[in-house]
Amino acid sequence: MHQGTAIVIGAGICGLTTAAVLSQHFDAVVLVERAQLPEDSSPRRGTPQARHVHGLLARGAEHLEALFPGLREELRSGGAPVFDHGSARTQVWAGTLPAATIGIEVQTAHRDDLEAAIRRRVLNLPRVTVRDGTAVEGLHMDADNRRVDGVVISCGGEQELLEAALVVDASGRASRLPDWLQQVRYPQPAEKIVDGGLTYVSRVFEAPGVPGVHGLQQMNQAPDRPGGTYAADIGQDRWLVTLFGAGGTQPPLDDHEWRAYAESLDNPDLRALLADAKPVGPSHQHLDTRNRCRQYDKLPRRPERLVALGDAYCAFNPVYGQGMTVAVLQAVELGKALAGRESLDGLAHHVQRRVARLAQVPWLMATSEDRVWAAVVGGRKASAPLRMTAWYKQRLLYLAVHDKDPAVLRTFFSVFHMLKSPAAMAHPRIMAKVILRARSPHTAQEPASALT
Ligand SMILES: Cc1cc2nc3c(=O)[nH]c(=O)nc-3n(C[C@H](O)[C@H](O)[C@H](O)COP(=O)(O)OP(=O)(O)OC[C@H]3O[C@@H](n4cnc5c(N)ncnc54)[C@H](O)[C@@H]3O)c2cc1C
Repeated sequence: MHQGTAIVIGAGICGLTTAAVLSQHFDAVVLVERAQLPEDSSPRRGTPQARHVHGLLARGAEHLEALFPGLREELRSGGAPVFDHGSARTQVWAGTLPAATIGIEVQTAHRDDLEAAIRRRVLNLPRVTVRDGTAVEGLHMDADNRRVDGVVISCGGEQELLEAALVVDASGRASRLPDWLQQVRYPQPAEKIVDGGLTYVSRVFEAPGVPGVHGLQQMNQAPDRPGGTYAADIGQDRWLVTLFGAGGTQPPLDDHEWRAYAESLDNPDLRALLADAKPVGPSHQHLDTRNRCRQYDKLPRRPERLVALGDAYCAFNPVYGQGMTVAVLQAVELGKALAGRESLDGLAHHVQRRVARLAQVPWLMATSEDRVWAAVVGGRKASAPLRMTAWYKQRLLYLAVHDKDPAVLRTFFSVFHMLKSPAAMAHPRIMAKVILRARSPHTAQEPASALT
């Protein structure tokens, strides 16, 4: 157990799970959150992305359940169904994936409900306190300007110094940590940005749903199918429906036009869901979906005792639903680095490097297709390796739809849920099937032609 207080900036999914992990290693943990936090699962300021479908990958769900036993059951009793992902309706360019039991369970809780359930548990932990309605405004350094020893906070116009043995920035995409570093005479991190021009527009509906189905998804496909949807049964006869467009295509906000965009996806399940659906509240749009990574692991000079996690470190295009899972994995990684460690010196650099390694594969998954979209937007042709990857993914999906091969389906979903590395999709057995199928004269070539 380390003496002193660990401060976590931001009480989103990353900040909450980090606080839970740190409470096992520090005398005290203080969560500083700029927004006022509600007692229940009402929408709150600070997390506008929560108005959109948030799918929790199986890998993230496993870790959350280990940190907060009973979480899944609590959400289920609140109405969020648990089901095999193979029973959801998944539409890809080549058709509908066959319904199958694949052994990967998912739960379609609303992000507000998930966050509120986690928050209740974290704030009940004996060593954790929260300062909500309080913004962090900068870092405080020790006399040698070598290590961070606190943060400056502001609440109701008053500034205050909070001392800290460790500071974790979990303040999300809008993190101001690069500026704070500059203010204390440290270099700012280089940034990697890949913008696939993705927009989400979402709305809650009261809807009877589609019998036996709790989730619908339609994946877009670079370079010529920008539109897609995620629709989730969030319990109590409510569905959250997200429509998205990539490569600069924006689903409209207006109700009539939104429905026309949904219709243009030509998805029979979505059509059936929306036929008897009554909107509850307005539509919400989200534009800032760029992949953005601030490379703190590569800083030539860094202060001790400061770590950036979650979206503050690396935010992904949300289409693959990786953000919450990667944030939870990073919090767990921080816990592993603290276990058995006596001194906190060197911890920050070690953790930041481990966290960078964790983000590598999700970054590749999220950006490879977005680089194709970025090329489309810029009127360029994507590079040959990117076109090859996109072609391979198309052919794999074709195989999954038309040959109904359970091994291919299971592999596809295992990679999607971060249970297996994407290398599994290039296993020689699967690759041979993909290539044989692609060369068959009976195989549809569209839209692969656009890639060659
Ligand atoms: C449209 C959209 C859809 C998404 N869909 C999915 C999905 O399906 N599945 C998935 O896993 N992920 C999804 N994500 C990503 C997911 O929302 C995040 O990756 C995940 O929640 C981790 O976020 P975080 O906790 O790091 O940051 P956030 O959730 O953004 O939380 C940051 C917190 O820090 C607070 N804060 C900010 N500045 C300060 C400050 N100076 N002082 C104090 N507090 C501060 C904010 O108020 C906020 O509460 C989606 C993202 C978007 C944009």
